[in-house]
Amino acid sequence: QFPFGRRLPCDIYWHGVSFHDNNIFSGQVNKFPGMMETVRKITLSRAMRTMQDLFPLEYNFYPRSWILPEELPLFVAEVRVMKDSDPSWKPTFIVKPDGGCQGDGIYLIKDPSDIRLTGSIQSRPAVVQEYICKPLLVDKLKFDIRLYVLLKSLEPLEIYIAKDGLSRFCTEPYQEPTLKNLHQVFMHLTNYSLNIHSENFIHSDSVNTGSKRTFSSILCRLSSRGADVKKLWSDIISLVIKTIIALTPELKVYYQSDIPSGKPGPTCFQILGFDILLMKNLKPMLLEVNANPSMRIEHEQELSPGVFENVPSPVDEEVKVAVIRDTLRLVDPQKKKR
Ligand code: ADP
Repeated sequence: QFPFGRRLPCDIYWHGVSFHDNNIFSGQVNKFPGMMETVRKITLSRAMRTMQDLFPLEYNFYPRSWILPEELPLFVAEVRVMKDSDPSWKPTFIVKPDGGCQGDGIYLIKDPSDIRLTGSIQSRPAVVQEYICKPLLVDKLKFDIRLYVLLKSLEPLEIYIAKDGLSRFCTEPYQEPTLKNLHQVFMHLTNYSLNIHSENFIHSDSVNTGSKRTFSSILCRLSSRGADVKKLWSDIISLVIKTIIALTPELKVYYQSDIPSGKPGPTCFQILGFDILLMKNLKPMLLEVNANPSMRIEHEQELSPGVFENVPSPVDEEVKVAVIRDTLRLVDPQKKKR
């Protein structure tokens, strides 16, 4: 840490939030220029839409999405056409503010007319997306997967996927969305930051129980039920690669403008957090990509009312220490020289 500024050049620069230092001329930086902007909900949806238009079957792992407010008329019109052609289609949609995180401002709707058009949506653009109604449940609960992906280089494209990740659980038994339960965030949203406030949240020291588990423990369970876990992994790997390919053109534009080729500059790498939802039929669906996944290996515990303490979280530690360790091994400058 250089709280008073850096003196000597470093082999590896580990920035907290984003690539921001234009005075680095060598070494490696743990952020790509423009990554934060590229993975925001709207930009990601745009990039995925472009690829879905070109390769509809290859990119069917991203829910159909519309950008608000600009595509509101298109959203209304497309939903009307789909409902007319299939009157039994009873969709649910999820509205997510751009740049939001931790479930902030998210709500579910049954009809385009339920979009909240008062003030905030105009000032705060959002993505409205088809809601995946039939997720895979474990212990009757919805959960999502956080996988850690290292983008080691853009050119040539080098991607590494950590073998284990986290599974984050809801804290109310899942029911398919109805007008009555649409507002129940503990049933529909898997965000740790929301569910931690539920009285049903279970902190566990074991990797295969509680409200946060390792993904490998879920795979073990699926495998013992006879699921084809190899196929699931191969689908996940393909989802990750295709998503990064979709983001690459924009990332290259940022890279060229911040670190023009021919001029001295650092190379970049970045750990990304992929949020993935498994459908009942085990098809992985991409929810979002996080440019700054939390690497905390502790959680807060309320010792007595209002008194909090940080305690180790063995599940986070098991997954995240390996991610950081393997990342440093992969970018190790000594290894490169050897
Ligand atoms: P945030 O950045 O605020 O966490 P996300 O896109 O990750 O926003 O959505 C929050 C949560 O909402 C997800 O973790 C997931 O549980 C749920 N969710 C998001 N999109 C969908 C979807 N299309 N279908 C079903 N559930 C979704």
